[in-house]
Amino acid sequence: MANDSFNPFEMAQQQFDHVADVLELDESTRNLLREPLREYHFSIPVRMDDGTVQVFRGFRVQHNDARGPCKGGIRFHPQETADTVRALAMWMTWKCAVVDIPLGGGKGGVICDPHNLSLGEQERLCRGWVRQLARNVGPLADVPAPDVMTNAQHMLWMLDEYETIHGNKYPGFITGKPVGMGGSLGRTEATGFGVIYTVREALKELGIRPEDTSVSVQGFGNVSQYAIQLYEQLGGKVVAVSCWDQGDQTSYTYRKKDGVDLEELRGITDRFGGIDKTKAETCGYERLPGDAWIEQDVDILIPSALENQINAETVKKMSRRVKIVAEGANGPTTPEADRVLKERGIYVIPDFLANAGGVTCSYFEQVQCNMNYFWSKDEVLGKLDQKMTAAFIAVSDLARRKKLFMRDAAYVIAISRVASGCKDRGWV
Ligand code: GLU
Repeated sequence: MANDSFNPFEMAQQQFDHVADVLELDESTRNLLREPLREYHFSIPVRMDDGTVQVFRGFRVQHNDARGPCKGGIRFHPQETADTVRALAMWMTWKCAVVDIPLGGGKGGVICDPHNLSLGEQERLCRGWVRQLARNVGPLADVPAPDVMTNAQHMLWMLDEYETIHGNKYPGFITGKPVGMGGSLGRTEATGFGVIYTVREALKELGIRPEDTSVSVQGFGNVSQYAIQLYEQLGGKVVAVSCWDQGDQTSYTYRKKDGVDLEELRGITDRFGGIDKTKAETCGYERLPGDAWIEQDVDILIPSALENQINAETVKKMSRRVKIVAEGANGPTTPEADRVLKERGIYVIPDFLANAGGVTCSYFEQVQCNMNYFWSKDEVLGKLDQKMTAAFIAVSDLARRKKLFMRDAAYVIAISRVASGCKDRGWV
């Protein structure tokens, strides 16, 4: 998010530069990969319910498409910036490469707060976004998906607008569609479940049983809810969850020391992942400040909200007991905090590996749409588990063999694949 001292794109470039040095990448490859290939900035006029027209700012950044069409979500957020979208687009390139799916990286966004928009206004905003870009995106060029504060309904409106403009059916234009309308079973669960597949593998490596661990989670949106669900199924305990409170314009952490009850929390949560504070207190949750999620005496932290959450300040509050940080969000850890995690020997499962389950399932959705034959949920989740586990093992093997930090090992694999794609095409 926009923040005086924090620029996510600079952070993404710093991470890239560091690994480009390790890989001794040549100058032209560096110049190509440290910037997006293309980007679009545009205005979206939307007729509001009261008859006035409000103009929103929209973005789409296509970072790299050497390995396949650009792929990545669209975020709706009041603090969206061009640099946030650039960073997220670059991370998508590495994400698709690390799980080895034939896609590149892109990201989109709109500066808006969907809390304050009616469904009709959201529909017109989605259609307006597509009208501005209908010739620059598409199943063979750039394929959007849901992200922060966007969902399957938004994707369907976007698909409908795209198909209306182009006069045919193009189910591969967008992923994260509703099931029965070209969506894949398991897509909603995929990102959160994927995070836990990687946590499960990390625990195996460390010789720890999930039953003996506890977790604190930041965020209570789609990623975090399904991460909690699967983690509890594995026998682990989630003791704290933090989320944004729209009314108070701040975040809170809700804690229950003997473990949160996911269904109970879901029952008192709005569609943006905001937990009702009065009801939470009635259900016996302690309400703590927003940052308290990071201070909990737990074995595993799962930041699943936004970027810049584990930073030079907050990292100081982290309990000595933490052994694993699994990044459900994109870019939650700043380079300064990363150095501290490295020094402390914390096992970091980096964002573009940990949360790659969403885009991997999006890829399965495209495959199913192309065949016009849809798999069972077990088949989707089984394939997802295989893909995520294989990617995790490749990264952790490299980290062990070359004594690299997990983030650097994941980057080495991803950047090498994209760099050779560019080279093989004769671009550099
Ligand atoms: N928005 C998700 C991500 O950041 C999914 C992207 C996709 O499915 O294309 O990975």
